[in-house]
Amino acid sequence: MEVIKNIINGEEAPAVSGEAFENINPATEEVIAEVASSGAEDVNKAVESAQAAFDGGWGAMPAAARAAALKKFCAVLTEHAEDLAKTESLDVGKPIKFATYMDAPLTSMLFDYAAGICDKVRGTYYQVDDNYLCYTCHEPMGVAACIIPWNFPLLITAIKVAPALAAGNTVILKPSKDTPMSANLVGKLALEAGLPPGVLNVVQGPGRVTGQALAEHPDVPKISFTGSTQVGIQVMKTGAEQVKSMTMELGGKNPNIIFDDADLEAAVSGSLFTGFINSGQICTSGSRILVQESIAKEFTDALVAKAAELVVGPPSEMTTDQGPIITEEHYKEVLDFIALGEKECETIYKASLPEDLDKGFFVPVHIFGLQDTSCALFRREVFGPILTITTFKDEDEAVALANDSMYGLSASFWTKDFGRVNRMARAIKSGIIWGNTCHYVTPDAPYGGYKHSGVGVELGVEGLKDFMKTKTVYLNAGPDKMALK
Ligand code: NDP
Repeated sequence: MEVIKNIINGEEAPAVSGEAFENINPATEEVIAEVASSGAEDVNKAVESAQAAFDGGWGAMPAAARAAALKKFCAVLTEHAEDLAKTESLDVGKPIKFATYMDAPLTSMLFDYAAGICDKVRGTYYQVDDNYLCYTCHEPMGVAACIIPWNFPLLITAIKVAPALAAGNTVILKPSKDTPMSANLVGKLALEAGLPPGVLNVVQGPGRVTGQALAEHPDVPKISFTGSTQVGIQVMKTGAEQVKSMTMELGGKNPNIIFDDADLEAAVSGSLFTGFINSGQICTSGSRILVQESIAKEFTDALVAKAAELVVGPPSEMTTDQGPIITEEHYKEVLDFIALGEKECETIYKASLPEDLDKGFFVPVHIFGLQDTSCALFRREVFGPILTITTFKDEDEAVALANDSMYGLSASFWTKDFGRVNRMARAIKSGIIWGNTCHYVTPDAPYGGYKHSGVGVELGVEGLKDFMKTKTVYLNAGPDKMALK
């Protein structure tokens, strides 16, 4: 069994208290690792180490030198792509084909992108007066805490850590207690790549202890958090006490809208992908299908036929499309949502599980018909393989239904009418809009949520600047005019 320690100041160390917790494989329910359960003392050590690394050179290093260090890190991550994919698949229960073809290569892409832009951040020159020079410059903040969830731990590590380091900060990474493994491996690979000790620290432990200690630490000016809206609000309240800079990537209950002129095959395929990838455990899941009345039956029949083809099974097999739910606790929550759907909605489709899956937190795919939008299945983020289908008459009703949510993370829609593509993109109150596609993301475009789905953006130059402070400089080369009399 693997023993996972903290990585602080370039060294692996158990929690100061000696406490540890068990990490469970969600596909087999077996214990696969024993993990350091860190407290405030461990967090203090990590912050000291990160601060020393920041002051000791990383923060003031020429951007081109940081770029070179990150390129090397990226090369080592790419060399270990297979290990990273296997680790992620084992720990998260993610089908190996997705970990291999999505999570691992995207991780390298994100580090490569960050390395490429770290010496391209520019301030602005402002023309104010003949004697004055005014300009802005962007500076790193110091120690950045990156707190990440369990659904895409490797990818979200890259989304946060790569720009945080590229911006010149040092980092403390806190993965979820449910998925400690890929963050641990990334931390070790950072050392193999020669990143100076303390530049990237990984602290393991439960959020309400370890995460809380990070959020309230006075020497951590930046928190970049991805997780549920509920915990995000709690972290914001904690960080607000010290006026920290906070980026929040939170929950979603995203509409996926199919108009009667859509390319039906593409819409069905996209709906299956956005609904059930990662067993529906994805913040941008298009879990609220809205379909135009006139094609509802045709679309639903085609979706059900496709859903019936999904292969549920061990995540380690290349043929598996759907793995388990992350923990027993979350598995029970998803089953409760299914019971609610069976009571309050029309059960359109209910898959059955292969008989040999007698262990693990596997949940069969469910599709419910739902017209009463007060139902919790229309409003709450389930984070499981459950889709609802609601019909609409026209574009206005589609927009109203799409926007009828406290969340505003992403939205997809499918139509061949270009005018409508444009109108829908403007009318939907979400941070990420996908017209005739879903889940397409490029490292250089910003990514973030509206409403209760978040604050700030990640990715792109905007995401890098989210890890920096802007300083405005006025320099006077002429006589001083600032006299009170
Ligand atoms: P949680 O909000 O439960 O946890 C997120 C992280 O916060 C974990 O590392 C958790 O640690 C930690 N945490 C928990 N309590 C505290 C605290 N008091 N102070 C500081 N940190 C704390 O989210 P999940 O891990 O359950 O992830 C699922 C959620 O993440 C969904 O709502 C999903 O929509 C959202 N998400 C959003 C994305 C986006 O880009 N907008 C992308 C991916 C997911 P621990 O797990 O150890 O308790």
